[in-house]
Amino acid sequence: MNEIIHRSKTRPVRVGNLTIGGSNEVIIQSMTTTKTHDVEATVAEIKRLEEAGCQIVRVACPDERAANAIPEIKKRINIPLVVDIHFDYKLALKAIEGGADKIRINPGNIGRREKVEAVVKAAKERGIPIRIGVNAGSLEKRILEKYGYPTADGMVESALHHIRILEELDFHDIIVSLKASDVRLAIEAYEKAARTFDYPLHLGITESGTLFAGTVKSAAGLGAILSKGIGNTIRVSLSADPVEEVKVARELLKTFGLASNAATLISCPTCGRIEIDLISIANEIEEYIAKIKAPIKVAVLGCAVNGPGEAREADIGIAGARGEGLLFRHGKIVRKVPEETMVEELKKEVDKLAEEYFAK
Ligand code: SF4
Repeated sequence: MNEIIHRSKTRPVRVGNLTIGGSNEVIIQSMTTTKTHDVEATVAEIKRLEEAGCQIVRVACPDERAANAIPEIKKRINIPLVVDIHFDYKLALKAIEGGADKIRINPGNIGRREKVEAVVKAAKERGIPIRIGVNAGSLEKRILEKYGYPTADGMVESALHHIRILEELDFHDIIVSLKASDVRLAIEAYEKAARTFDYPLHLGITESGTLFAGTVKSAAGLGAILSKGIGNTIRVSLSADPVEEVKVARELLKTFGLASNAATLISCPTCGRIEIDLISIANEIEEYIAKIKAPIKVAVLGCAVNGPGEAREADIGIAGARGEGLLFRHGKIVRKVPEETMVEELKKEVDKLAEEYFAK
C-alpha cells in the first residue's frame, strides 16, 4: 500500500460522525440530482451513492418543499447530510432544525445582520458547520470590478469576506470551497487559500463536463491540488449519474494513496503476447473489487513474460499462460490454475486477503 501523502494541517471540523480536515482522511462527497422534495427518489439515490463509497451527501434546498423533506431524508440515510441553500435564511433555519449535518450558504449573501446572526446561532446550537462556497462564475461585483475578471486573488478575497462575517460572530466551524471550471484558476485559488487560512478545503472543479471529459478534467485539476497535500473533502462534478462522481473520486484518492478503504486494480495494456481475454477479465475483477474495503492491490496481466515482476507491488495477481493462469503474490508465482477457473480463484484469493487485512 502507498504511504499517504502529506496533508496540509487544517482545523478539524465535525460533520455528523465524520471529521473533515485535521486528519489524513479525504472525505468523498456527492450531490443528489433528484428533486429534494421527492423523498423516495432522493433517499433511493443516496443509498446508491452510499453503496458506491460516498461518505457525505448534499441535497439542494431551493424552496420550502425541499426544506420540509429534510427530516424524513435524514431519518432514512446513514451518511451525513449537507443542505445547500442560496440566500434564503429561513430555508437555512428550517434545514438546521430538520437535522442537516452541515449547511452550504454564503453568509455575505444572506442579507441583514440579524438574519446572519439567526443562522449562525442555530448552527452553533446544533454544532453543525457552514461551508462557504466561492465560485469563480459568481464572484461579488465589487471583486470583479477590482480585478477585472475572476482571479485566484479575487476568489480568496471573496472567501475571506464570508469567513470574517462568521468569525465576527465567533463561529469557526467553517469549510471553504473555491470552485472554478478553469482548472488552472482552481489550482491557483486552492493553493492561495491553503496559504491564507487553515479552514478545511472542499475541493471541486465545477462544470467539468460529461463522464469522459469531466473525469479527465477533474483528475487533472483535483490531482494537481491533492498532490500538493491540499484538500480535505472532494466532490467530482460530472454531467452524469452521481454514482460516477463517487467512483471517479475514489479512484483519484486511491491514485494518491489517500483511500485506506479501497482495493486497486493493476492491469496490463495488452500486446501481441496476450494469452487470455484480458479486457473482459480486468473489467470483471474491477467490478468485483469495488466492494472490497481493504487497500489490496490486485493485478491482471495478459501473459507471464515480464508481467508478474513488473506488477510486483500487487498483493495478488494473475498472469495468462497457455491454457492456464499463473497466480502470483508480490511478483512471485505461487501456483498454476486452470484457465476456466482462474477468475474465480483470483476472487477467492482477494477475499482471503481482505479477511486477513481485517483480522490484523
Ligand atoms: Fe503484453 Fe504480457 Fe506485458 Fe500484457 S503483461 S502488455 S500481454 S507483455
